[in-house]
Amino acid sequence: LLGQMMDVPLNVSSLLAHAARYAGDTEIVSRRIEGDIHRYTYRDCEQRAKQLAQALIRLGVALGGRIGTLAWNGYRHLEAYYGVTGFGAVCHTINPRLFAEQVAFIINHADDSYVLFDTTFAALVDAVAPHCPKVKGWIALADEAHMPALATPALSYETLLAAENGVFDWPALDERSASNLCYTSGTTGHPKGALYSHRSTVLHAYGAALPDAMGCSARDAVLPVVPMFHVNAWGIPHAAPLAGAKLVLPGKDLDGKSLYELMEAERVTFSAGVPTVWMGLLQYVRETGKRFSSLARTVIGGSACPPAVLREFEDVYGVRVIHAWGMTEMSPLGTLMRLNWEQSQRPLAERRRLLEKQGAVIFGVDMKIVGDDGRELPRDGVAFGDLHVRGPWVIDRYFRSDASPLVDGWFPTGDVATIDRDGFLHITDRSKDVIKSGGEWISSIEIENVAIAHPAVAEAACIAIAHPKWTERPLLVVVPRAGENITRDELLAFYEGKVAKWWIPDDVVFVEQLPHTATGKLQKLKLREMFREHVLR
Ligand code: ADP
Repeated sequence: LLGQMMDVPLNVSSLLAHAARYAGDTEIVSRRIEGDIHRYTYRDCEQRAKQLAQALIRLGVALGGRIGTLAWNGYRHLEAYYGVTGFGAVCHTINPRLFAEQVAFIINHADDSYVLFDTTFAALVDAVAPHCPKVKGWIALADEAHMPALATPALSYETLLAAENGVFDWPALDERSASNLCYTSGTTGHPKGALYSHRSTVLHAYGAALPDAMGCSARDAVLPVVPMFHVNAWGIPHAAPLAGAKLVLPGKDLDGKSLYELMEAERVTFSAGVPTVWMGLLQYVRETGKRFSSLARTVIGGSACPPAVLREFEDVYGVRVIHAWGMTEMSPLGTLMRLNWEQSQRPLAERRRLLEKQGAVIFGVDMKIVGDDGRELPRDGVAFGDLHVRGPWVIDRYFRSDASPLVDGWFPTGDVATIDRDGFLHITDRSKDVIKSGGEWISSIEIENVAIAHPAVAEAACIAIAHPKWTERPLLVVVPRAGENITRDELLAFYEGKVAKWWIPDDVVFVEQLPHTATGKLQKLKLREMFREHVLR
């Protein structure tokens, strides 16, 4: 017996159409590349997204055609999120922090017909355009007065839009058709594409907005620091219009001062980003003695959030931290930390320990940990193994690849984790970063977290060094805080009583900076290469 309800397809355009109709006056505020602050509403945004759809159709972009973007968080990029997907093309966000060769590889692999770009990336466009012969046109997100000097012929976005009237009905698309394409950063081999559907994107937006996930609401002003070129800014550009939340888009300046000033000026209540960004913001408020007058909570993910960052936000500034875990292959949200009623009655020390974990799955994701033999391991918070996930917003296969990455219908994440009785996930490592000493695993993340809790340490990375007796031993690489002095022995003494004795690193090296990937993660592969010859003391 079939249900008798309307078969309305879940289309990405409906998120913006809803906001334009029911939160039409709600603002979208952007700090522009041009330097000024731009403000308009969801109603204006939909109007211009429709003009963009008309312009792309006029340029001959077909259903399923891919449109690349190289852009910061801003209103024109948001228009692309909806104008491109709304008529059935695919919005392919590209990470401009990748090397030019990788950007060219991704554009060619995706077969982008047009690429929209912020003028700050003009030099990158000139570097990749000669290697991307199939791109029909490069469109600068600018008016004629702000067109960059380029060797590559480029169109002006504003001129294209000005030729259209915006009288356009979003078509009803098959909800399984492709809407967005994101590539992994390719820390291991070539980047791989995750091709999301309208259905998966809308379901993910519902999931992201839930109160125990990001809790995205009409009462919020949301500032995604996480870039719109990185896994759709964790779904915020979709969840904010769904909820009718005010959106604040920070553009290219992501230093502590710029973020703080925008948060205060726009009375931002909720933000999201990777730990390194928050370390910069905390350093700014610490040094200037500033307070947050509106910021209530922030989602921190992409890498493990150091407990010291969590503590400072919560205890010193009264900002709630929501530790989150996910990945490109999961659209990206998997788990977010929150305590249920019973857990929040437990003793303070236990609550604090729980809040450091990566959290509970959102409805829509299921997870398990398995051992080397593929058998599921107990959810006791002690056993750790390979983390596998499944759900309607998890990839089934990579773009343009026939081989299924799935194992028994589950996606292997490449992360090593525990799951405890409360159902909380705790990531101990990426499988390729674990340190195997004497047949036992040492969690590099835990070693780093201890180091970062030391007041003289700005950043730390723990990597495996080959060892004749133990196979591998941990080496700690540390960036000291400006003006601080700390010795190897002092730092190693700091570990006593905090981790098992045999987990304490064998040696410490001080450096001025650590290598990061294009998405702000520690580049451990590079570090391992740099210290391959290191002799442990
Ligand atoms: P890429 O895989 O291209 O580097 P992703 O953003 O998809 O970029 O990265 C996903 C990975 O980032 C996860 O598999 C995990 O290893 C790591 N990660 C994400 N969030 C967390 C977190 N809160 N704690 C620890 N690791 C995390």
